[in-house]
Amino acid sequence: MGRIHPEIYFFGAGVAEGRSEMRNLLGGKGANLSEMARLKLPVPPGFTISTQVCDYFYDHGHKYPKGLTEGVAKSVAHVERALGRKFGDAKNPLLVSVRSGARVSMPGMMDTVLNLGLTDETVRGLEEISGNARFAWDSYRRFCQMFGDVVLKLKPENKNDPDPFEEIIDRKKVARGVKNDTELKVDDLRELVGEFRALIRARVGRDIPQDPREQLWMAIGAVFDSWHNDRAITYRRINNIPGDWGTAVTVQSMVFGNLGDDCATGVAFTRDPGTGEKGIYGEFLPNAQGEDVVAGIRTGRQISLKAGREWAKRAGIGEAERVAQYSTLEESFPDVYKQFLEISAQLEKHFRDTQDMEFTIERNRLYMLQTRTGKRTAQAAVRIAVDMADEKLIDRKTALKRVEPEQLEQFLHPRLDPSSKRHVIARGLPASPGAVNGEVVFSADEAVVVAEAGRKVILVRLETSPEDIHGMQVAEGILTARGGMTSHAAVVARGMGKSCVAGVSALEIDYGAGTLSANGAVVRRGEYITLDGSAGEVIAGRVPTVEPEMPSYFKKFLSWADAVRKLGVRANADTPDDAKIARDFGAEGIGLCRTEHMFFDPERISAVREMIMAENATQRGRALAKILPMQREDFVGILKAMAGLPVTIRLLDPPLHEFIPHADTELRELAAKIGTTLEHLKQVRESLFEVNPMLGHRGSRLGISFPEIYQAQARAIIEAACELRKQGVKAMPEIMLPLIGERREFDILAAQIREVADAVFKERGIKVAYTIGTMIEVPRACVTADQIGAVAEFFSFGTNDLTQMTYGISRDDSGKFLADYISTGVYKKDPFAELDPVGVGELMRIAIERGRKSNRKLKIGICGEHGGDPASVKLCHRLGLDYVSCSPYRIPVARLAASQAAIEASQKKAAFKDV
Ligand code: PEP
Ligand code: MG
Repeated sequence: MGRIHPEIYFFGAGVAEGRSEMRNLLGGKGANLSEMARLKLPVPPGFTISTQVCDYFYDHGHKYPKGLTEGVAKSVAHVERALGRKFGDAKNPLLVSVRSGARVSMPGMMDTVLNLGLTDETVRGLEEISGNARFAWDSYRRFCQMFGDVVLKLKPENKNDPDPFEEIIDRKKVARGVKNDTELKVDDLRELVGEFRALIRARVGRDIPQDPREQLWMAIGAVFDSWHNDRAITYRRINNIPGDWGTAVTVQSMVFGNLGDDCATGVAFTRDPGTGEKGIYGEFLPNAQGEDVVAGIRTGRQISLKAGREWAKRAGIGEAERVAQYSTLEESFPDVYKQFLEISAQLEKHFRDTQDMEFTIERNRLYMLQTRTGKRTAQAAVRIAVDMADEKLIDRKTALKRVEPEQLEQFLHPRLDPSSKRHVIARGLPASPGAVNGEVVFSADEAVVVAEAGRKVILVRLETSPEDIHGMQVAEGILTARGGMTSHAAVVARGMGKSCVAGVSALEIDYGAGTLSANGAVVRRGEYITLDGSAGEVIAGRVPTVEPEMPSYFKKFLSWADAVRKLGVRANADTPDDAKIARDFGAEGIGLCRTEHMFFDPERISAVREMIMAENATQRGRALAKILPMQREDFVGILKAMAGLPVTIRLLDPPLHEFIPHADTELRELAAKIGTTLEHLKQVRESLFEVNPMLGHRGSRLGISFPEIYQAQARAIIEAACELRKQGVKAMPEIMLPLIGERREFDILAAQIREVADAVFKERGIKVAYTIGTMIEVPRACVTADQIGAVAEFFSFGTNDLTQMTYGISRDDSGKFLADYISTGVYKKDPFAELDPVGVGELMRIAIERGRKSNRKLKIGICGEHGGDPASVKLCHRLGLDYVSCSPYRIPVARLAASQAAIEASQKKAAFKDV
């Protein structure tokens, strides 16, 4: 068969016009349906309209390209021929689903219509071919509901109102005295169809068309429209998905999982998306349609017997009850189960990644409806990458590229303190790991308000929907009463790395009263609960949490990263404790120890203040003599924790006024303590006041004005190193001067430090190695880096200040307008979070080039916040830095990002060679 239309790709019935590589054009879903057809897997035939039509649709006032109408008609005819059914036929009708599909999966964000093609006439045909009137009318009822909601936009009028269609169903159930939908009779369903359509006519002013072709085109339009609905826009913003990619539309023949007990539908992963463990993981429902599983309306059943038994044990269900009510796919459909295992294995091998599959069983025949790369937790991502590399399914470089560096931080998520007491009020599914606590809120909007006030929240809902995404984003964790491991709440929380407990059936939620209750316990809005997303527990009150351990596969993964990366990774750490944590996470030294934090210690702040208040150098020297031994102890601790590794210690940086109390009462106390007058202290406070402290008397300017301060700090460092040397500990101090913008500043201060060091060596009769370098954080330092580089032994980019000064944006005040700059697109990213490659990056490039030109051995690193941001780490690699330095918890992130940068660079080089 030749192509019907250039923008339409047919699949199934022995044809596969697309392939998996064509996801930009066909969306992930369409591309993989074609690929499955190519692999000769049982796929119901259909066709995909490309994303280019979506572009055209928006560029041309919601019109379609030439020939598309005929192309769709011919494609439908082809499906009709393949199945021997006809669209709109009263005897043997073809029904189709119309689905969205972008190039990356956006679960539940865009629209889908099922059972399309049902009319007053074809419903009779469906009765006939299925021999099941209830099924036919139930399908028609579902179609009217979906078409009304998705295409004709009949939604609840207010956020907390129930769904208008569900309200009609509930009324019908009450009238008939039944509890479940499944107990409604054919006549009830027929009445429901009439009532739905009456409501649609009354509220929308039109009926559901009785011509299937009109239905089809309206549904296609609605799917294209849904690319720009609010939740899709929010999802794209959160996930950095460009708005111009567009969605494809896949029209596929329906197969039915709800014709009777020999039918079923389900979703499954080839590996556990929570832990990464190998083996089929999923849920199915007998006699149901796909959306029932995802919506979590009924409790899903397990696929394998092993999983079924484990599930029953967790849920406290005995074996007899399990077999009677929750039998697994392996037990209920043994042949299909076997076939499904084979197909899963084939798909995983083919795509070389964990697959997330949807399937339907119609009269004991298996159909594959979708396969896509399975979303997973950080834990699962790393474990799967390591396992697949060990299984030789992928190579190590591919494994490293499979994990987003940011995800690694989730390994460092807290667990419940094992020694703490906990009152478990309910249990549910362990949907997404991590232990968290927070105030209970019952809506996404409320979550945003409370989180903005700086408080931690747990979002509690009956179930979540894509409309709740903004609330989930700010919540610590998510708790739902309904839904399984593949429910919206579970899938989205895992993707976001948030803790989630789902499907807590004992939970009763009263949105109106603002309470949740379970097993006799009642929690009100604003009260604390704790979630353990790894165990599926809901716990009363605020339970303390402890830091996690790192599993062996995590360490193995990072060792692979270390083997390929070129950049060193150091930590910004100010205390021996932080230094120890950093070392455990793999830090290869300290890139920034900010000494000012040590000065705030309550025991020494008054000596620091005395030093600042001093009227002359002698007084200042006296105060510094009190500080010196304490500083020496600080440095002994930190250099010891990093024995054998370099430790960059920065001399005092912030303006002195930061150390002075603001309130007069405190100032009076201080005056009494250090034996001076309040008046004098007020004068000092006045003299230190600065209108623009960020550009004021700070950094090396302090060293020039008050040489005693830097001399005392240098002495503390060198004495500490000498002391350690005596203990046989190898200390490697690197003394760093902040905010240098002129070579002569460096010359003067470095000379003073050397003088102090020589004096200490003489006093102690030993010598230690040390270096003196500078931060590069003033644009002038970048431009004159040849001069500064000639005298400094190392550079460390302070990109916080460098960004501030390059943009002319105050670090203190930018909060007022930065959000506007990002939302209006003036800036693509917050330049304080991700290094600006064009401006700041260019200054860095100049500094590196000029610095290395005059000093070939110059060591260059970065210690601004950007040092732990993956995109910035990659830029640092490209610029040729020696190392990055970041907060201890970002170290694994930086190690992986650095390895990916090295892999990307080598692959680019290889590709260039191939050309
Ligand atoms: C910097 O400016 O990037 C830096 C690391 O120093 P600080 O943030 O302490 O000014
Ligand atoms: Mg700085």
